[in-house]
Amino acid sequence: MTSNKNDFQNELFSPVYGRAWDTRNIPEDKLPENSMRDDEAFQIVRDEINLQGNPDLNLATFVTTWMEPKAEELMRLGAMYNLIDEDEYPQLKVIEDKLIRMQAGLFNAPNVKLVSGVSTNGSSEAIMLGLLAHKWKWRNHREKQGLSTDKPNIIFGADVHTCWEKFARYFDVDMKIIPLKPGKYTINADDVKPLIDENTIAVGAIVGTTFTGQVDDVEGINQLLLEHKKQTGQDIPIHVDAASGGFVLPFVQPELAWDFRLEQVRSINVSNHKFGLVYAGMGSVIFRHHDDLPENLPFKINYLGGSMDNYSLNFSKSSSMLLAQYYNFLRFGHSGYQRIMTSVMKNARMLENYLVKSGHFDLLTDSKYLPVVVVTLKNEKQFTVYDLSNELRKFGWIVPAYSLPANAEETNVLRMVVKENFSHDLAQKLVSDIHRVIKDLTAGQGAGNLEHNIKKGKSSTKPHGIC
Ligand SMILES: *Cc1c(COP(=O)(O)O)cnc(C)c1O
Repeated sequence: MTSNKNDFQNELFSPVYGRAWDTRNIPEDKLPENSMRDDEAFQIVRDEINLQGNPDLNLATFVTTWMEPKAEELMRLGAMYNLIDEDEYPQLKVIEDKLIRMQAGLFNAPNVKLVSGVSTNGSSEAIMLGLLAHKWKWRNHREKQGLSTDKPNIIFGADVHTCWEKFARYFDVDMKIIPLKPGKYTINADDVKPLIDENTIAVGAIVGTTFTGQVDDVEGINQLLLEHKKQTGQDIPIHVDAASGGFVLPFVQPELAWDFRLEQVRSINVSNHKFGLVYAGMGSVIFRHHDDLPENLPFKINYLGGSMDNYSLNFSKSSSMLLAQYYNFLRFGHSGYQRIMTSVMKNARMLENYLVKSGHFDLLTDSKYLPVVVVTLKNEKQFTVYDLSNELRKFGWIVPAYSLPANAEETNVLRMVVKENFSHDLAQKLVSDIHRVIKDLTAGQGAGNLEHNIKKGKSSTKPHGIC
């Protein structure tokens, strides 16, 4: 054998680590000159991904980090199908419509056959599409009456997710933001009432706020808007942001009326990739009645073959998440979701109890609506929630600390979202690591400059990394 042939054989049959790539520089600024083997490329990408946090220990996000293997199989299949190609893949649209109706039923739509809705990239797109429809309805109505349409406004609380402010900025709508205050982190009818005027396109209500997991008083706001309609004839819709609560409340608080049971609730968004239990990449917006989506707003397109309506901010995307969500709906059914949600709520309460019992924490809110544990430190003199959060990172835990939105910025919290794969066992491990961190911090190890940490944690903008 020639040595060349030997080299080649060696390279071909050597273990994955130990081949040439393993000791070679991987270019960062240009396309590599030559090809490499599939398993090598895979390993390099896989290793790079490993440099980050572990999704299983990420309690900062509501977004799903575990799915059943069969669902993953369908996701691989779905990646081949562009969801927009309705003419070539008509069954995808059939599935999408089925999912919209199933969700409309879950949200108590008076008639699921009359709803309208689309699947989106997430709640952010869903919220923008929902609010845009209300802006157009308001404008169409004003134009018909010969009234001005240059000053639309929208009312919501400071407890909203950033995407509401994004909508206002991107689509030129004035925001009327109701500030929070210490001890009050949601909004109600009394907050909304003085802000209503003829240019109000909608009122936003959150079920399951990102910051505390509490719910706005949708029922009270609905009552207010019904009375307003009776007195003035002005019909102001409510858009409910159920990004995080949409798949929890129907199972753990079925009596709570926050959805289409309330007449003024005209549209609802939900993040399927939160408690719909699919990986990141899917939300939905559902309109109570197809008339709530102005017919001149969706685009009619015909160049993909056939003619179809398109209402979305983006165009092409994979069908993976749609198929994964369909799988979950069939696989879990109502009783399956109920089991999972009951169990995450139990684990959240258990975590709360452990933290309270430790004597170091106060509950900011109790996890009645969402499996979200939000605590404050009883004593912030020796160390802060920001120190705790930093120190927990050393054990792999991702537990965010942040200050609440205006005007409750003085409150610094630690928040843990309990998800499907956060078992009782993991919860106990987290609690034991928290104890250890507190012990070290009390003994003066680990904490940085306290002043600095408090300043660093506090910001007037919304915290990153929580979603
Ligand atoms: C997560 C969240 C959003 C944003 O949802 P995405 O699906 O991540 O776009 C909006 N509102 C609330 C209340 C949320 O919890």
